[in-house]
Amino acid sequence: MNGTPPRILIVEDEEALTLLLRYNLEAAGYEVDTVARGDDADIRFREQTPDLAILDWMLPGLSGIELCRRLRARAETRQIPIIMLTARGEESERVRGLSTGADDYVVKPFSVPELLARVSALLRRSLPERVADVLAFGALALDREKKRVTRNGRAIDLGPTEFRLLEFLMERPGRVFSRAQLLDGVWGRDVYVDERTVDVHVGRLRKALNRGYTDDPIRTVRGSGYALNDKFGKAPVPS
Ligand code: CA
Repeated sequence: MNGTPPRILIVEDEEALTLLLRYNLEAAGYEVDTVARGDDADIRFREQTPDLAILDWMLPGLSGIELCRRLRARAETRQIPIIMLTARGEESERVRGLSTGADDYVVKPFSVPELLARVSALLRRSLPERVADVLAFGALALDREKKRVTRNGRAIDLGPTEFRLLEFLMERPGRVFSRAQLLDGVWGRDVYVDERTVDVHVGRLRKALNRGYTDDPIRTVRGSGYALNDKFGKAPVPS
């Protein structure tokens, strides 16, 4: 797996199963977060959007179905792949699960490799950028292997943090990230860095990318944070 590991949120109240899933998903290279209650999960999803969610059908606080419905109703979470876990005997309810917007369902007890295969299949579909060696966005190209960035084919010198920042944004073109989310994704969860640090590095990244150009691939979203500018991504590459 290249780049930032995809984040998976597991919403499950059976502790043993949660531990088993967390262990195996982390071993497969994912970043895993867990919540045991449906209502707590509803709050967690508003704080941070994972790349994929695994929802248990029967949950205290708020059911997996209702949670799924709410996720599909919000713009920020509408697109994330959802795998629903159901207990045997609930099969007749499966159709309902899928009609509320789950992408896939797995009946308990299931094999861990089977679940991993489904997770990986859904992520390959939803995040093709995450597995590519070279990311492209408009006139920008970022080569993860060679650690090289070009604009219109011309090499751009970036420090390691600016490189990671650009890579993070290019993996999710158009998505708006708060400073806290960028800190989390680029610097890591356990590092203490002030949010203003993000502005400093975005400033450096911009300066390096825009030297000799007037259009800026990075968009500042007032009150929210930063994103790649969709218009820049769609602009034809000048020859
Ligand atoms: Ca349950």
